[in-house]
Amino acid sequence: MSEGKDFLRTIVKEDLEAKKYKTVVTRFPPEPNGFPHIGHAKSISINFGIARAFGGHCNLRMDDTNPTTEDMRFVEALKDAVTWLGYTWGENLFFASDYFPKLYEYAIKLIKLGKAYVDSASEEQIRQLRGTVTQSGTRSKYATRSIEENLNLFERMKNGEFKDGEHVLRAKIDMSAANMKMRDPLIYRIRHAHHFRTGDTWCVYPMYDFAHCLSDFIEGITHSICTLEFENNRELYDWVLDTLEPEKTRPYQYEFARLNINYTVMSKRKLLELVNGCFVNGWDDPRLPTIAGYKRRGYTPEAILNFCEQIGIAKANSMVDVAQLEFCIRDDLNQKVPRVMCVLDPLKVTIENFDSNKTEEIEASYYPHDVAKEGYRKLPFSKEIYIERDDFMENPPQGYYRLTPNQSVRLKHAYIITCKQIIKDANGKIVEIKVQYHSDSKSGDDTSGIKVKSAIHWVSGRHAKKAEIRLYERLYKTDTPEGLEDLNPDSLRIIKNALIEPAAIDEKPDERFQFERQGYFYADPIDYTSEHPIFNKIVGLKDSWAKKTETKKPATKPTQTKKVVIEGKADPMSETELTLFSRYTNELGLNHEIANILARDTQLSNFFEEALSVLHSPISLANIITNEVAREFKTNETIQITPNQVAQLVKMVDDETISNKIAKQVFEEMLDSKASPDAIVQKKGLAQISDPTIIIPLIDEVIANNPDNVAKFKAGNTKLVGFFIGQVLKMTDGKANPSVLNELVSKKLNTQ
Ligand code: ATP
Ligand code: MG
Repeated sequence: MSEGKDFLRTIVKEDLEAKKYKTVVTRFPPEPNGFPHIGHAKSISINFGIARAFGGHCNLRMDDTNPTTEDMRFVEALKDAVTWLGYTWGENLFFASDYFPKLYEYAIKLIKLGKAYVDSASEEQIRQLRGTVTQSGTRSKYATRSIEENLNLFERMKNGEFKDGEHVLRAKIDMSAANMKMRDPLIYRIRHAHHFRTGDTWCVYPMYDFAHCLSDFIEGITHSICTLEFENNRELYDWVLDTLEPEKTRPYQYEFARLNINYTVMSKRKLLELVNGCFVNGWDDPRLPTIAGYKRRGYTPEAILNFCEQIGIAKANSMVDVAQLEFCIRDDLNQKVPRVMCVLDPLKVTIENFDSNKTEEIEASYYPHDVAKEGYRKLPFSKEIYIERDDFMENPPQGYYRLTPNQSVRLKHAYIITCKQIIKDANGKIVEIKVQYHSDSKSGDDTSGIKVKSAIHWVSGRHAKKAEIRLYERLYKTDTPEGLEDLNPDSLRIIKNALIEPAAIDEKPDERFQFERQGYFYADPIDYTSEHPIFNKIVGLKDSWAKKTETKKPATKPTQTKKVVIEGKADPMSETELTLFSRYTNELGLNHEIANILARDTQLSNFFEEALSVLHSPISLANIITNEVAREFKTNETIQITPNQVAQLVKMVDDETISNKIAKQVFEEMLDSKASPDAIVQKKGLAQISDPTIIIPLIDEVIANNPDNVAKFKAGNTKLVGFFIGQVLKMTDGKANPSVLNELVSKKLNTQ
């Protein structure tokens, strides 16, 4: 990856040229609460890639400030993923939990500056006083506590004198800030919980917004790259560092769009649900988009990195077609891997005119498509062979080019055969065919003059090995999967009795092959033995899925929206555009890239201004307008949605009536029905359900219907929590408030 080819590299390059930093230091900061997935691969390739391109370094930092969900197993999986992708952190493996003492000192410093206070209001009160996007908040009465009192209380919080939730430490900033994150944000909370690394040393834990920027500062990070959903947190990031370390060179945060792929889920919550609910076989199930899953399936790191490079770094969220990833895998393997023959659904073929005692050894290239590449094996040919059942048809339709009673075919690398007799069982099923081979038609030395229309793969019955083949299809049947109900029931098909040519069987596998005419396959790194060979399908030879689904779904909504990639420097702005740009960045606090998109597009900026006059929530509005609305403008001449409606929608997200995800769904509905967002949420009952009196009966029902899983849970299989949560989410169409649900399910199960 070269310098300056995307907006992040442009920023780094300019900073280095301006001597803002001596060297670039980035970090990849995963929370070790799940296995890393393809989205993380993108983040890894950006952070490690930029450090490498500019001769700096990238830290691997476990962002382990949340004591309850983290695990050493996930740390190992993260290290493994980075290494597998070809990057190294050298000496620079860090844990945010190692900074707990320093972060605690920083909190004290903030109190001493009069910029933090201990609030003893309840969570509910704090939420109520926060105000809404249209109304400013009210400061808590505890904010008037003296510095001494705050220091004393905070120390006693640390010493474990209070229960969870009794007090919190808040930064004292601005209760009427337009950015809700700035309304006296919580920076420390009490949690009497065991941490997987620090044990019971701490019972106060720093919140993300406090811990992350300071961890970056402590490590000397220069460019703190994160995904778009942290855009609103940037102001707080800057405030904490400017307040606590005003004199020092410090890191700045930059956001890019997270990777979304159709037919794929990437949120760790959903992946956990699949794994814990046993809907897949563990974190490395080859159907999952986890790095462990890809690795087991046979994807190569080169292909994944190529994919990350191809999709680029965008500033606006978009959906990438999974076919693009599959293309990259195919593209990588096509040149690299040897081709062998494997018959998945064998049909016996007896060659009447071949000596039954004889085996002919045919020298066959592993790379028949590439004459420059060396590599041969001896392919045994004998009287009894097997071909693919569907390579023979008794009554073929027009255009069928393979073997029929009247049509000869070539056996790849070997001879042409002609059908003489069909043998069927009592049910009329074909069990064998008898053929004649043409001894003068050998591949590469054919003097027979017989014309055939295709060559099929085959194996010698006496020499072939039995193999198990695991065929994987997409895990979800819908392009934007929501939950368990969208799982593809046919995502795994196991073939027990495939027959494979002997040269493909090895003691030590770690090998990928193209099975001629079938696709790419990988010896399963865990279950394979030479006695019982097992191969995973990596990917087919071409995109067969596209054809299957094309006719089913009219392309009303494009799944791949156009990316807005800002590469290097763009054209200079006009006077008007510049005025807008400066208003957006200086007055409204939009980031440069979003402001750039808006300022340069009159249609979008008019839309934005109008929405803004209804609801003053510039950042959220700008986000939806530069993503969803921009997409609509791109694909349609006019759009039916008004700025007023978009403002209403954003308001519902801001005041937590609906989740961000449901907002996307409502947006799509608005396009279809032209109804107002309120009406849609009302009519479809999309409001988030946080009320325990609604959720608890559902949990009770799931518990009553699944006594086996309850018993397993009680016997120690705590992972089954995910199953119960999944069921309730399903019952509520994903509307149950996840954090409320989580807590209630755990409580219920533990009191069973
Ligand atoms: P999830 O929503 O899947 O739980 P996360 O963002 O909470 O993901 P982290 O472990 O905190 O997961 O992520 C580590 C890093 O990887 C972060 O910098 C995050 O921005 C980045 N990352 C996570 N998911 C994606 C994605 N889909 N595309 C690009 N980067 C991602
Ligand atoms: Mg996270």
